[in-house]
Amino acid sequence: MSSPRAASPGRTRLRSEIRPARVLALAARTLSCPTAPYREGAVIAWIRSFAAARPELVLRADPHGNLELRRRGVRASRTPLVLAAHMDHPGFRALRCTRRAGGFAIDALFLGGVRPEFFPGARARFFQPDGDGRLSGDVGTVSARVVSVRPDRASGELRVRLTARAAVPADAFGTWDLPPFRRHPRQPDLLATRAADDLAGVTAILALFDAIDAIDPQRRVDVRACFTRAEEVGFIGAIAVARGQRLPPGARIIAIEASRASPHAPQGGGPILRVGDRISLFEDALTRWIARVGAALAGPTGRRFAWQRRLMDGGACEATAYQLYGYRCAAMCLPLGNYHNMGDRGRTPRIVAETIRLSDLVGLVRFFEGMVRLDDDCPRRSTTDPLRRRLEQRSRRVARELRRDPFA
Ligand SMILES: [Zn+2]
Repeated sequence: MSSPRAASPGRTRLRSEIRPARVLALAARTLSCPTAPYREGAVIAWIRSFAAARPELVLRADPHGNLELRRRGVRASRTPLVLAAHMDHPGFRALRCTRRAGGFAIDALFLGGVRPEFFPGARARFFQPDGDGRLSGDVGTVSARVVSVRPDRASGELRVRLTARAAVPADAFGTWDLPPFRRHPRQPDLLATRAADDLAGVTAILALFDAIDAIDPQRRVDVRACFTRAEEVGFIGAIAVARGQRLPPGARIIAIEASRASPHAPQGGGPILRVGDRISLFEDALTRWIARVGAALAGPTGRRFAWQRRLMDGGACEATAYQLYGYRCAAMCLPLGNYHNMGDRGRTPRIVAETIRLSDLVGLVRFFEGMVRLDDDCPRRSTTDPLRRRLEQRSRRVARELRRDPFA
C-alpha cells in the first residue's frame, strides 16, 4: 500500500502563546524544589501557590496528597484531557542516626532506581521539614557522604550508610547534593538539575496552565493536570488516583516524563511522543491523534516544529499503571541526560545533575498547546477514527479496481 500522508488537521499556521522566558522562569522555580518518594511537600507547596495566584484555576488534593488542577468555568467533560506527571525523584530516607567519633553515622534507605556502584563516596543532602511540614530552603539541611551500600533483602531497596557532621532525625529525607537548577553558562539551551525526572514534566504542565486562558479564551477544553506522589517506588500515587476513581472513566490520560535520551531519541531533537515504555504500548488512536497535532505544528514542510515519535524503553511510566485500570493512555517525554543522576560520561560511575534542553521543554509545552487547540480532532471511543474515514474514502475511489477482476 502506498503510504497515505500524515493527516494535518487545519492547514493554518498556529500562533503560539508560549514564551520561552516564562517557561524558563517556571523551570527554575519548579526544578529547585527538593523532593523524594513520599516527601513531595516542597513541590506540593509550590503547585499550591501557583494555583492560588491564578483565579482561573482550581486545585484539589485527594486523600493521598495527589493533586488535580482544573480550569474554573469550563464545563466538565466526560473525556477530559489529563496531563499527568509525578512529583518525586529517587532519594534517601533516614532511618536512624548515631553519634560517632567526629560526627554522626546515618542509616538510610534509598528509594528509586540507582545502581549501587554509583553510591560510594557520593554526597547527599538531608532536608528537614519545619513544624508545618514546609521546607525552609536549604536552612536546616545536613550534608552527608555515602560510606557503603547494600541491598535490603526484605524490601529489595538499597540500605545506605552515610557520615555527617550534624545529626539527621529519623524520617528526614535526602537528595543527592547537587545544584538544584543551573543553566549552562556556555550552552544556554542546556539545563542541569537535581531532579528533571519528573519535575521537568511538572514544569511543562504548569507552563501550559500559565497560558491556558490565552490559548483557549472561550474555555471550551476541559484540560486537567494530575500530579502524583511516589512514582519511583512503583506508581503508588497513580494507583491511588486510579483506584480512587478520581478521574472519569473516559479520561484521556497523557503521562508526561523525562526519559533517558539515546542516539535514537536525542536531546535537542524536540519533545517525544512516547508510543510505549519498557513494559507497555499505549493507546493507538490517542497516540495517532498526538502525532497529527505534531504534524500540524510542523507544517507542510515538516520544519516548523521539531518533535520525535519513539518507543522509550529505558524505563516505565505512569501510563502503564493507568492503562491497567482501563484508562485510555498515551505518553510524552523529554529526552533526559544522566538518567536518575547516573553520569552518562566517563568510565567511573559518578552522581551528577540530570540534564534537559530548554528547547525540548518549550517544544513540549507548545505540543500541549497544539493538543488543546486541536482537541476536537481527537477521536472519542464512540466516534470513527479520522484515519479510517480517510482510508475508506480512498478505498471507495478505487473499489472498481477490485470489482473489475475478482480472480486476479
Ligand atoms: Zn524516574
